[in-house]
Amino acid sequence: MPDFFVNGQPVHAEPGQTVMQAALAAGHFIPYFCWHPHLSVAGNCRVCMVEVEETGDKGGGGSWMEIACNMPVTEGMRVLTDSDAVRKRRKEILQFITLNHPVDCGICDKAGECTLQDYHYAYNGAPSASRDAKVHATKFFPLSSRITLDNERCILCSRCVRFTREVSKSHALGIQHRGDHSLIRPAEGARFDEDPYSDNVIDLCPVGALLSRSFLYQARVWYLQPTPSVCPGCERGCTVQLWHRKPEWRLQALDARRNTRIERVTPLENPAVNGPWICNKGRDLARLFERERATQAMLKGRAVTLDEALAAARALIAAARRPVALVSSWGSNEELAAFQAALGARLASFVKADRQPEPGERVADDLLIRPDKNPNGAAARALFGAVPAAFPPDTDLVLAWGEGADFGSLPRGAKTILLGAYLAPKNGHADVFVPISIQTERAGHYTNFAGVVSAFSPCFAKPEGVAHAADVFAALGVSKAVIA
Ligand code: SF4
Ligand code: SF4
Repeated sequence: MPDFFVNGQPVHAEPGQTVMQAALAAGHFIPYFCWHPHLSVAGNCRVCMVEVEETGDKGGGGSWMEIACNMPVTEGMRVLTDSDAVRKRRKEILQFITLNHPVDCGICDKAGECTLQDYHYAYNGAPSASRDAKVHATKFFPLSSRITLDNERCILCSRCVRFTREVSKSHALGIQHRGDHSLIRPAEGARFDEDPYSDNVIDLCPVGALLSRSFLYQARVWYLQPTPSVCPGCERGCTVQLWHRKPEWRLQALDARRNTRIERVTPLENPAVNGPWICNKGRDLARLFERERATQAMLKGRAVTLDEALAAARALIAAARRPVALVSSWGSNEELAAFQAALGARLASFVKADRQPEPGERVADDLLIRPDKNPNGAAARALFGAVPAAFPPDTDLVLAWGEGADFGSLPRGAKTILLGAYLAPKNGHADVFVPISIQTERAGHYTNFAGVVSAFSPCFAKPEGVAHAADVFAALGVSKAVIA
């Protein structure tokens, strides 16, 4: 294991590590645009330039400049990351990188998260040294139906191109032309729309060149806060950040629904589950969570209070001779435990798939996407069996929790209790309908297909009239209870 020195301090390096890797791991900051820990080294932005002091026989006070991302650590090497020479070189590099970069920050979605902006103020801060007009390029190039490209902002770091070659393997992007006419473009014959991981390039882009069409001009990032969560799109259970409006920036006069909206979804890096990536389905969670909600308890379509609905459900369970439960594979570990404790001994319980693959969706691959489109099927199946091909004909009560229950296949005459979160025609057909909260309104854990447990936190309060499923189970398991 080589030892070397960064700014005079001894640093350990693993065999084969570069100066960038070892220095960052030891807490020494080196700026970078094109380098990324999960991509190959391109070495083209040059902003990670450090000064290497001569040692040994050559140790005569001399030094040379080298990029940290591509320089292997050698024993006894002495590196300076913030010397006068390094700062001078970084300033020159930033002058070069911003030569044709537009002064767009005021309208750029990346503002607030842009490393070019940060490094410019940290290492340059001076107006452009060029007396020539900036080279103009395409401002809104439709890279795909999900992503727009601003070629003027692109600093040609090639992260997006390397991502499609090395991670998603779609090989959908390339660089066309030379010099200041270089453009990121779809590769010939490739369709970036068919890459289910395409939106990772939005996060990878160090500047505001690659932008999400759905998030374009929707919110300044400093008005938003991230809540850690878990994507329920498949049994991988990728950890994500759900971005929504900060309470102190709540809108008072404009559309109030924007205060409880998921503005964007980004990966929450997790080496045990998804690394730094998620698929596009995970970014579209708002489409799932923001469907019209069911907020009214009902008895055969007649509006009642939550307590009346629970009393009716309790009476049905008490009277049933052969009751069955269809357990949700979207229920959290805590909800599954609450169900088992309250009702597991009373109802024959089976795990159903709440959701199936959507038409045209990639069902599985060897990167992240898994075939079971439910986040907690593994935990549910550890407690309960699979739904049988047919229920016993004398089944007289079915409690269905969540989506995906096929009411047409239930034994004729069986009473139904439905716990659901979204508006659906079958809500009104159930003998008892209880509206329940969704993942963004409660805390909990999912266990993914490999047994890794991940936590999610609430972003918003549950709507009035809606109960948490765990409270419903607790109330149904006792003779009398009232839910807040
Ligand atoms: S679009 Fe962004 S990620 Fe791609 S090369 Fe340009 S700056 Fe880099
Ligand atoms: S791979 Fe599965 S869990 Fe991960 S983001 Fe995609 S749908 Fe969600």
